[in-house]
Parts: sequence; structure tokens; C-alpha cells
Amino acid sequence: MIVHQAAFEGKAPLLKGNLHTHTTRSDAISSPETVIGQYAAMGYDFLALTDHRLYNYQNFAPESGLLILPGMELDANLPGPGCHCVHLVSLGPEKERGNRFEQDQAFESLSVSSAQEALPLVRAIEEAGNLPIFCHPEWSGNTAQEILSLPDISLMEIWNSGCVVENGLDAHAAYWDEVLCAGRRMYGVASDDGHHPYQNGLGFVKVRAEKTPSAILDALRRGAFYASCGPEIYDFYLEDDKAVLFCSPVEVIRFRHFRVPYVERRGNGIMGHQTAPVKGTNYIRAEVMDAQGRMAWTNPLFLDEKYWQRAKK
Ligand SMILES: [Zn+2]
Ligand SMILES: [Zn+2]
Repeated sequence: MIVHQAAFEGKAPLLKGNLHTHTTRSDAISSPETVIGQYAAMGYDFLALTDHRLYNYQNFAPESGLLILPGMELDANLPGPGCHCVHLVSLGPEKERGNRFEQDQAFESLSVSSAQEALPLVRAIEEAGNLPIFCHPEWSGNTAQEILSLPDISLMEIWNSGCVVENGLDAHAAYWDEVLCAGRRMYGVASDDGHHPYQNGLGFVKVRAEKTPSAILDALRRGAFYASCGPEIYDFYLEDDKAVLFCSPVEVIRFRHFRVPYVERRGNGIMGHQTAPVKGTNYIRAEVMDAQGRMAWTNPLFLDEKYWQRAKK
């Protein structure tokens, strides 16, 4: 029996998109028109303009052919020296599909004494029919426990181009493993969060969906996507007692479960690998790195009781 990770099921196209973008509507240097044009020229299918505390549906450059996914970024500041906060991207469907936020609706920054107290932000996002994404935990000075203290979050950034380029912070995926190991079904997103043109186009998602906001949102909720900075993932599935990955030519393929040493294959232009998940682990995910050092990450395959019973036979 073969169980595919949701990104590799069904006939819908794999759309390329960026879920976290800034423009002159908040603190970035390029206008919405310029940013949309830049992503369209790079071959993206969709883009969310997630300026700080300012909701957007509008396609400022409709001739680009790019689909705009409605969204914004909200934040809550936490006490303590240095940077300590919770940032959440909010992504929603079309207005007529139940999105309760308005174009240009503005929000305040919250001040809270613990990450858990940012829960009203998560609730406000959900009650408006939107999907929250926990942003850049390493940049925000978060712990994995802070992510886990927000019960309904099921997507988080594991790569944020702005944080990597500006701050050298590329360890967001480490938080992901800790959260997954604690039993949370969490999907990993790569996004740009660009404030300058040179930060745009470095990290993206490939989503298995038709090209409408509600279809993309539904696929994100189901984990029907993968995250990448370049390499393509062709398939990731469980077959009997093995996890199997196929991808574009890369130099490194790793399978990861937290607290189990990872399985790695290295080679020139390798395009696949397989492994038997270690008994008792609750998920397995794969990541790859190409000759330019660019990564891609599958979402996890969750290994529940049923899986382990089947694998025993
Ligand atoms: Zn942020
Ligand atoms: Zn941002």
C-alpha cells in the first residue's frame, strides 16, 4: 500500500507562490506594482502582499497574470531584552468565500506578557476565515514551547529569506522538528518576507491546487505543498515499511525524525533515496540540497498507530 504525502496526490497543478511579502504599504522599499511585476517575471503563479497590520486583496498589477492571495502580517510584542515577539501571517480566501477582513483594514500591534497571550490574534485570524502562519521563530526570539502554546497553529515558516539574507538566521527548521516531535501536526513554509528586491524569489512553496485563493488556502490547510529554495520534489510516499523520495538532481538527500540520527545520501546529481522509518517515531520528513546549496523540504508523513501496525505485517 502506498500513501503519498498530500502534495503528491491528485491532478491539480503545482503552483509556485510566495506567502509573505512586503511593499511600500508598510516598511518595504518597492511599490506593490513593482513587487508583483518582479514575482511575475520570476514565473510565480501567486503572491500574498502581507504588509504589517494592513489587509490586502487588491491586485495592483492585474496585467501581470499573478494571482493575489488575500493577506497581511500581525504582531504581538513580548517582554525582555532584544527582539522578542510573535509574528503571524494571515491568509484568506476570496471575500465571497467567507473572508471577513476588509481591503485596507488596519490593526494595532499588541503588547503581551507571554506568547500564549497572543491567542486572541490567532482567534481573530480564524474567525475572519483566515489561516495563521507562525513566522520566523528564530528572528522573533521564540522557543518551540512558545509556538506550541498557540493551540491551533498548523503552519510555520522553516525558511525566511529576509532573515537569512539580513541576519544569517537559517535555523527555523530546527524549531519545526521540536514541534513535530511534541505531536503537533505542523506544516513547513518557505517564504521571502522581502523588504528589498534582492530578498525576493529565494524561498517559495509549490502548492497542489487550482489557481484560486480558496483552493490554495484549502491545499495549505491539508499540507498539500512543499517548501523550496530551488530543488523540485517529485514524490514522497510511504510504501509498506519504507519512506521514498524522488526529486530533481541534488547533492544531498536527508530523511529526518527528531531525536533519531538522520539518514543521509550524498552524491552528484542524485534523484532519490529511501529509508525505513525508525520504530516509535511519529513522523518522517525529507530535505534535499542542490549543488548551489539551495534546500527543499517535504512536509511530514505522519506515522500513526495504524502505520506501525501495518508495517509490522
Ligand atoms: Zn515578521
Ligand atoms: Zn514580514
